Amino acid sequence: MQLRKTDAVVIYRADFGESDLLVTLYTPDLGKVKGIAKGAKRSKRRFVNNLQPFSYIRVLFAEGRGGLIRVDEADMIQPFFRISDDISKVLYGSYFLEMVKEMTGEKEANPPLFELVVTFLTLLNDAPPREEYPRVFELRFLDLLGYRPRVTECSICNEQLPWADGAWFSFRHGGAVCQGCHINAQGAVAISGETLQAMEQALMMDLAGVEGIRFSPQVLAEGREILPRFVQHQLGKGLKSLRVMEEVQGD
Ligand SMILES: [Zn+2]
Repeated sequence: MQLRKTDAVVIYRADFGESDLLVTLYTPDLGKVKGIAKGAKRSKRRFVNNLQPFSYIRVLFAEGRGGLIRVDEADMIQPFFRISDDISKVLYGSYFLEMVKEMTGEKEANPPLFELVVTFLTLLNDAPPREEYPRVFELRFLDLLGYRPRVTECSICNEQLPWADGAWFSFRHGGAVCQGCHINAQGAVAISGETLQAMEQALMMDLAGVEGIRFSPQVLAEGREILPRFVQHQLGKGLKSLRVMEEVQGD
């Protein structure tokens, strides 16, 4: 079997039998792939401890049967080990990885999405955790998967939204709806113009500047209500990492 190399972020791992590991990797050229690392729990030489979630690695692999790859070696590029120093970093990072695991298709390459994941893991590793980061990640992630929420025009009548008047956010219609249309958008929740503007900024900004982004308490409160719910609406089910985050933050 021909051996290939790819960069990858480890998004999930589980024990498999006595000595093997099952891993889910996110890669730039293959998208999400599942693989088996034979003897990974024994072989310090080939794997050291490089198959931990969050690790940014380079793997040597072969295509296997049933869509599984066989991971032969894993070299560390960046372990992002400082994410584990802080509970908020772990919670945010686990949320990012779960979104990738649950919402991307197997072997659907999306190199910008790989870049997004590495950018945000780097940010969590290097900077103090801020609630702005999961909000910007959600928006950019949704955009890259084709679920970009509409924030400048009404998702029903397509008219420009006068942000100054505030609007409504409809999960079913995939974005903001105007005052006139909201009666036709069951379950829509009120959203301020300031939050819509912040969402537009997050969608358009150069991610090199994301460390400096600051939202007001109102934008953070509305974003916390709306965006995780919108992510789960698109997925069609709840995410475990969000439940854990709510429990921890509710203490
Ligand atoms: Zn409208």
